[in-house]
Amino acid sequence: MITPAPEAAHHELAAHEVVLLLESDPHRGLSEGEAAQRLLRFGPNALPGTETAGPVRRMLRQFHHPLIYVLLASGALTVGLGEYVDAAVILGVVVVNAVVGYLQETKAEAALEGLRSMLRTRVTVVREGRRHRVDSADLVPGDLVQLEAGDKVPADLRLARSAELRVNESALTGESAPVRKHDGVLSGALPVADRRNMVYSGTLVTTGTGAGIVVATGTTTELGEIHRLVGAAHTLATPLTRKLAEFSRILTAGILALAAATFAVGLLRGQDTQETFVAAIALAVAVIPEGLPAVVTVTLAIGVARMARRHAVIRRLPAVETLGSTTVICSDKTGTLTENRMTVTAVWTPTRRYEVTGSGGTPLGGLRTGDGAPVGADDDRALRWSLLAGAACNDAALTERDGRWQLVGDPTEGAMLMVAAKVGLFPGEVRRQWPRAAVIPFSSERQYMATLHADGAGGHVVLAKGSVERMLELCGAQLDSAGHREPLDREATLRAATDLAGEGLRVLATAVRSDATTRAFAEDALPGTLVLTGLQAMHDPPRAAARSAIEACRSAGITVKMITGDHAVTAAAVAERVGLLDAPGPGAVLTGAELAALPAGDLLAAVRRASVFARVSPEQKLRLVEALQAAGEVVAMTGDGVNDAPALRQAGVGVAMGRGGTEVAKDAADMVLTDDDFATIEAAVEEGRGVFDNLTKFITWTLPTNVGQGLVVLVAILLGLTLPILPTQILWINLTTAVFLGLALAFEPKEPGIMARPPRTPDAPLLTRAVVVRIALVSTLLVAGAWWLFEWELSRGASLPEARTAAVNLFVVVETCYLLSCRSLRRSAWRTGLFTNRWVVAGIAAQAAAQLAFTYLPVMNTIFDTAPIGPDAWLRIGALAAVASAVVALDKRKGM
Ligand code: ADP
Ligand code: MG
Repeated sequence: MITPAPEAAHHELAAHEVVLLLESDPHRGLSEGEAAQRLLRFGPNALPGTETAGPVRRMLRQFHHPLIYVLLASGALTVGLGEYVDAAVILGVVVVNAVVGYLQETKAEAALEGLRSMLRTRVTVVREGRRHRVDSADLVPGDLVQLEAGDKVPADLRLARSAELRVNESALTGESAPVRKHDGVLSGALPVADRRNMVYSGTLVTTGTGAGIVVATGTTTELGEIHRLVGAAHTLATPLTRKLAEFSRILTAGILALAAATFAVGLLRGQDTQETFVAAIALAVAVIPEGLPAVVTVTLAIGVARMARRHAVIRRLPAVETLGSTTVICSDKTGTLTENRMTVTAVWTPTRRYEVTGSGGTPLGGLRTGDGAPVGADDDRALRWSLLAGAACNDAALTERDGRWQLVGDPTEGAMLMVAAKVGLFPGEVRRQWPRAAVIPFSSERQYMATLHADGAGGHVVLAKGSVERMLELCGAQLDSAGHREPLDREATLRAATDLAGEGLRVLATAVRSDATTRAFAEDALPGTLVLTGLQAMHDPPRAAARSAIEACRSAGITVKMITGDHAVTAAAVAERVGLLDAPGPGAVLTGAELAALPAGDLLAAVRRASVFARVSPEQKLRLVEALQAAGEVVAMTGDGVNDAPALRQAGVGVAMGRGGTEVAKDAADMVLTDDDFATIEAAVEEGRGVFDNLTKFITWTLPTNVGQGLVVLVAILLGLTLPILPTQILWINLTTAVFLGLALAFEPKEPGIMARPPRTPDAPLLTRAVVVRIALVSTLLVAGAWWLFEWELSRGASLPEARTAAVNLFVVVETCYLLSCRSLRRSAWRTGLFTNRWVVAGIAAQAAAQLAFTYLPVMNTIFDTAPIGPDAWLRIGALAAVASAVVALDKRKGM
């Protein structure tokens, strides 16, 4: 059984010694059985989740609100006045309120916690001599892990191989500049930051590639040991919730002042001190919208859960709000608008063009000339070298198991492996014959990749592939079909590339240098030295749902722009296919070079006009976002690479790809698409709009009822009249309606046509003029109705408790009718359909039962000073509610 060496020792040993020590195999890695055993022994490679406050702390936190203080204080005073029943009611309200808040918060946090497990990190390991993608939690000491730019280092590793490997270790050391790593041996006890041959869990690979052996996992890693957790902690706060909290605070202060003033007026008028005091408390309790913060949290959490079901995982809660007001979506082409399932369909050499048969999933098929004659790799030397470059200058892997072929790695590279295999150049064979001596890895800036290989006869060969423009800079000649160099015909090559790109194909060029030396293999020594061997063109089908999603965005007033590193002609052809570019006029397609040449003054207009940005570098993505934001747009931007991180952070909604994206991009993003599909962004926008709608609905519903109740009390005190509703009765109304009725609005389904209106202005106030008018209208109706009914009942000889019971029931019935109206901001209550939200039905049933108990149960009659009322009183209540509903319906026709 293995025991990992003391951590400090690993950097002092050679990599192969570490492999021995950990009883692994430098080429084949661990066996699956051994890995499974070690997983049992060492536990999963994960850190314990973020610590959340314990249940007691969370429960206590529910009492930490100004309103609760007010209630508790008035409860104490009521006890002092000897009103024990009232005191018990107030206490009951406080407790029920806290329990409801606690349950809601727990539910919201569970929803967010569930998202964490959806964002699993996958890593490439070698086990039993084969490359696999496994969950990073399944890594064990002794595993051989491969790293590339964009990966999050999944465990502590001793490097065995590295090429230009640079790692950002700020999570561990605080140093934000990337650190260069190597695979040599170091001596002496070095601090973590100086162990250049080790990489540590939680750090990010910014450039290059490497491989290493896992020496520590989970809590035994450096990161685990210092108990620093990576990733932003989830909070339930967003700009909106903060704005609302602020609003509640101001409201509470204002109401308390008003209550105090009311108390003073009452005293001055010579009213009974105790009664006036209780009335002032009632006023305070009535107007403050207790349910608001809880409903906001729940609505956001429900939105997050709905988005997750549609494959959009929210990493930062404010994104839910921002999504609802997004005006521009900048999307990648490859993998987002297309499927990223690449198949080489044509190969061009300086002599001729060949078509490729067969699918992209198996090496069955071959090459044909234009007239259908089969072609072998040896019929054209340039073809042979092009396919060889594609197969050897390549980091993807092709494996076969029981007749099923599997590609691991970049789909572009996978396609090139596959076409080579179709003429018998299988990757394993190629690697044996052309062992790799050095590599210049691919990066988006570089746009090419080059490798140096021993040719078996003491010499070296350079093989390279990359974008056509870049490769033409590297080439000084081209190869003819007999294998002779000839002068490079740039025009012919570019023409061929444009023709292929015009078919919507992605085109890469390949090149070779047969008389290479190890010394001259450097990035700045390459230009002009290579010999062009050909072009490989690959097909990548557009995603099925992309077209309709782009259409939906358009009708929702959202502009979609494509941003890609690919060639302008390829990009334009794909854009046209997905319906993104229906009028390819001048300036509709901009390249990175054109963008860079624009004078600052013209940038904005050009960026707005263009729909497709091609050959764009990651820094330019950042510029694009900034330009659009300067024009007042709310931008959602996708990205998958390391260098996309700044643009993702800058964008209102940074969107990373869950499958094809790097860990660095996911770290910087606000939202991660688990299916990489553009249509998911559109779905998330739709849900974001739904969340906002539901919040507006709740606010429109709750504020008038609160203000109405407050006014009833205020009028009573100011005019020196008997209170038509008692404080405990107000508490009853507030609590039951908030729980049974208001909460149901958080579950309201999205309205039809939600994607047929323009985006919400991000800084639009919550209380728009229309909402304020509605609040005034409904509160007036409530006050007038309650007073009229109260006086009417009294004048008909009803007792005071009977008249008050009627007034309370009127309030609840009007609120219930108004709830139905608030279910849609635009359509009438009739057209919404009662059964489209079963929570509303259940809530109304519960509220009705509660009101019957409140009115007819003797216990309730004692507690709340109520009395049974007769059918004629109910008739009057119904008639008044009908009148009120009609008035609200009329107001609604003006539009919100
Ligand atoms: P995109 O994938 O959107 O085209 P990238 O920045 O990833 O953008 O790539 C830029 C260009 O570099 C590609 O259009 C292609 O010509 C070339 N390229 C892409 N992947 C590779 C690779 N693995 N090796 C060499 N060249 C590549
Ligand atoms: Mg790419």
